[in-house]
This record gives sequence, structure tokens and C-alpha cells, in this order.
Amino acid sequence: MITLLKNVDCYCPEHIGIRDILLAGEKIYKMQPDIPCTDRILIENVIDCGEMKAFPGFIDQHVHILGGGGEEGFPSHVEEIHIDSMVKAGVTTAVGLLGADGITRSLASLYAKAKALELQGITTFMYSGWYSVPFRTLTQDIVSDLVLIDKVIGVGEIALADHRSSNPTREELLKMASQVHLGGMLGGKAGILHLHLGDGKAGLSLLIDLINNSDLPMEEFVPTHTNRNPRLFEQAIEYCLSGGNIDLTAGETAGITISDAFGRLLDKKVDWHLVTVSSDANGSIPGGGVGSIQCIYDDIIGCIREEGIDPSTALRPVTENAAKRLKLYPRKGTLQEGSDADILLLDEDYNLKKVFARGKLILEQ
Ligand code: ZN
Repeated sequence: MITLLKNVDCYCPEHIGIRDILLAGEKIYKMQPDIPCTDRILIENVIDCGEMKAFPGFIDQHVHILGGGGEEGFPSHVEEIHIDSMVKAGVTTAVGLLGADGITRSLASLYAKAKALELQGITTFMYSGWYSVPFRTLTQDIVSDLVLIDKVIGVGEIALADHRSSNPTREELLKMASQVHLGGMLGGKAGILHLHLGDGKAGLSLLIDLINNSDLPMEEFVPTHTNRNPRLFEQAIEYCLSGGNIDLTAGETAGITISDAFGRLLDKKVDWHLVTVSSDANGSIPGGGVGSIQCIYDDIIGCIREEGIDPSTALRPVTENAAKRLKLYPRKGTLQEGSDADILLLDEDYNLKKVFARGKLILEQ
């Protein structure tokens, strides 16, 4: 399928102005100020975008695609995610993971759901493991999972500083991180240790202690939910200033909202490339409620529309930064020739009108 998008205002995420974009198969083949559409036999679909904005498809690195929770027993299990809700939230790449419930939900089911979503049009990856140590694997060995299973790009979410955590020791965490590091190297993957941070007193201290006492690279670790309370967020700012990645959870209202967190982090002049945002979609929220994937779109667009944050800055945590963190760049997280054709088209009020995923139009509204 060859599609030509005419007159698109492109944020790659840096703003480069009006371009035509030629999509061939799953890729962006050309991006130029003017691509003539003379060959109507080859170009099957020409869409005049009338200066609509184009953003890279969002990357959500924390999605409970099988549903999470069960915090109040079996009736409280959260449902699986539906492809439509992901696409409506602008998510064209997602990383699925298990949470606290690694008993009634398995990595085999997670893998099957990730495969199903991929066949439905988006790109998916997954983390091995669950909240606890010893962690679950698909092949009985985490290094093998990373080397042999294409979809596995790390381990997570391992819970720290949380009453639901298995409270791993520094040595247990170090062993796990070492295996993830080796598996990532051998498999050519990011090799991420994705860490759930709860409201517990310890906060990031175990992670900081581990990093200070090991030879592992800091970029391997991605602590998430770091905006869930003011104390943890303060610690996260310091951690980020010292070179660590931090992942913020969209839809946060009890802690620090994404727009407040962005404001604080920008004021502190952290290295913006270290900041990512994910949704925690379909996870159960302590005290009731379910994480919604729509939050990732609403929060990022809210930062642009209501807070006046420059679109390129607001987009980076869910596009370029996330892609680099997960070692998917420049295939994902950017609009450029040779990248996957994952493109969001928005009107002048930032309403999502069309979504292309790997070159196919999968949403039009
Ligand atoms: Zn979590």
C-alpha cells in the first residue's frame, strides 16, 4: 500500500513545518516539501491533510494489556485492554506487562495478547517477570527470554517500596539486573529493568544503593510511578539530575499531575531525554478505579493546549525519549524517512483525526 499525505505540519517531534509524507508498505519512504502525485497507479491513496499536524505515534511502555489487579479478590480483576482504546489514545507501540497478579495471569497469556494486538495493527513488546522475586519467565531463564523471544525487551514491573512487593534484597535485585543486562546485550535489546515504585518509605533508596554499589549502567533501570506522591517525586528529581531515567504515570491526580511534573522538571533543568511517560492502563488503582490509556493522550495534549508547553517538548517523553530508552529509535518515536509509518494526524485544536500504524490507516474519526 502506498499512501501520500499532502500538506502536513510535522512534529518529528521537533517542528519542521509543512511536508508531504509518502508511506510505502510499513515505512515512511519520503518526507519532502512537495512530492508530486503524478503516478496514480503506484500511489493508491492521496490525502490532502490541509495543514493538519502530524505527531509520531505514542509509545506506552507500561500497559496491563491482560488487565491487572484483583486487589479485592477475583471479582475485582480488571479486563483485558481493547485495541480500539489504544488507538484512540494515539498509542501505536505498547509494552505489555504483568503486575501484582502473576498467579492467575501468565506470561504465556501476555505473549498471546501482545501477538494479538500486533496482528490488529499496532506494535507490541513485553516484559518478563511480575511484581515479585523470584520472577516468572517464559523459558525458565531471563537471559534466554531476552535472547530468544523477540517480544521480550526487559523485566518488569518488579515492585519496590510497596506493601504488595516481595521486598527483594539488594543482592536479589543486583542478580536480576545483571541477568537483564547480559540478556539485553546478547539479544540486541534494551535490557530494561522496569521498577514499580509504591508509596513505601524507602522510595528509590534501594535502587540508588544498588547503582552506587554495582558496575551496571544506570540507563538499564526505569523506575515508574515516580510522580505518585510528593516525597517520591522530590527523590525522583534528584535521581534524574544525577543521570537516572524516570518514568511518570499519566492520569495521576492524587500525586503530581503530568503537567505539574513537567513544569517542575523543566524548572529544574533536568536532562529532558531521561523523562518518559506511560499510562499504567488497565492496572487496578489502589483504593478503587482502573488506569485508562486515554490519560496518556489527554495529559500530553493538555500540557500543550492548556499549559502552553511547546509541542516538541511535551511529545518527547512519549515518542523519541521512550523509543531511545527501549532501543527502538529511529524505527519508532520519530517521523523521518526509513522510520515505521506510525503517524497521528490532529486538527488545529489537537483533536486526533487519523492514526496510521505501520503504514495502515487504523483510525479515522
Ligand atoms: Zn505499577
